[in-house]
Amino acid sequence: MSLDGTYDNGNIFAKILRGKIPAARVFEDDHVLAFMDAFPQALGHTLVIPKHSTARNLLDESPERLSPLILGVQRVARAVRAALIPDGLTVTQFNGATAGQTVFHLHVHIIPRWEGVPLARHAGGGMANPAELKALADRIAAKIS
Ligand code: 5GP
Repeated sequence: MSLDGTYDNGNIFAKILRGKIPAARVFEDDHVLAFMDAFPQALGHTLVIPKHSTARNLLDESPERLSPLILGVQRVARAVRAALIPDGLTVTQFNGATAGQTVFHLHVHIIPRWEGVPLARHAGGGMANPAELKALADRIAAKIS
């Protein structure tokens, strides 16, 4: 999928937002939902998405929705840090299949990093254990402030 196109209401994140498929939810407010990535590149890999959006990528999004999204990203990133004490955090976002995007509902990755621990493959590694994801989500949720 290129940068151009129309929003597909059947994408995975739209289904998570509608409660049609499960996710290990971390945090939710009026604007954003955060949940664990099911194919994590590192322990604690968390995704933050706008709830009321049909933006496929960053370029599509309105300033009004982008502002609460980035504030949500910072809030969740702080909670990830407090919960898991990583050495660093990669915050990233892909636009278009050529750039590595695989789900076409705007989202931001928060990926904890530890010294000497390489990243797993993007969107192509193994599926995490749902119970372990739920436990991680609860640990991060407990640190939301
Ligand atoms: P993208 O490649 O679009 O930047 O990121 C999409 C992310 O969604 C990937 O990191 C991938 O592991 C994750 N993902 C794909 N399918 C699911 C799913 O069904 N549930 C969750 N929680 N994450 C998913």
